[in-house]
Amino acid sequence: MSNGNREQVIRQIINMEDRISNCRRCDAVTRCVRRPSLGKGDLQPDLIMVLESDDRDSCDINRMLELRDLIKTGLGFEKIYHTFLVRCQPKACPLHSNINCQSNRKLLDKDHHCLLTDAACEGTNIHPSCDSIISCLSFLLEEISILNPAYIVLFGKRISRYILRAYGFFEEPVMNTSYRYEGCSIIPTVDEAHFTSLECQQIKSRL
Ligand code: SF4
Repeated sequence: MSNGNREQVIRQIINMEDRISNCRRCDAVTRCVRRPSLGKGDLQPDLIMVLESDDRDSCDINRMLELRDLIKTGLGFEKIYHTFLVRCQPKACPLHSNINCQSNRKLLDKDHHCLLTDAACEGTNIHPSCDSIISCLSFLLEEISILNPAYIVLFGKRISRYILRAYGFFEEPVMNTSYRYEGCSIIPTVDEAHFTSLECQQIKSRL
């Protein structure tokens, strides 16, 4: 990538991240999210890993490093970027659902303490709703279009359905199979908690 192209990619990514950071499409969710999760990694990636959301219970930093190592050793890609279909991780919170909170202001302080209880947030991470997925999908498609990878690995059947449909594949996703779209291989696989070297072997044999 030339310096000019690289600068253009960086500008486009920063512009998109600004819009994500100011996005209020899912107000009920964002009240309990300190800041949306953004993509990370090589800005000239061979491969983009897409996860449903930044669920730190199932995918902490160590698991993310393991996933990257699995892809590097199992599929042979060095330049990897990871991102999320939904940027604001929703939580289940009995307190939040039992109060009639009409305000749109953030309920978490910078130390992840709840402003309603002045104690650590007790919310439990849950899967994003269909509405959040549909609302957030355009950011992912834009990110993919900017970074233009040759391979995209989708972690989990649920997100695979949404993303493959966005590219015109409407049948039920076949795991570890490559779907070709405009020079890119889109590969649905199991969710990030269950991805192993066996999945890499299957993907490699079908590329
Ligand atoms: S989840 Fe996505 S669409 Fe919804 S508020 Fe966050 S950034 Fe916006």
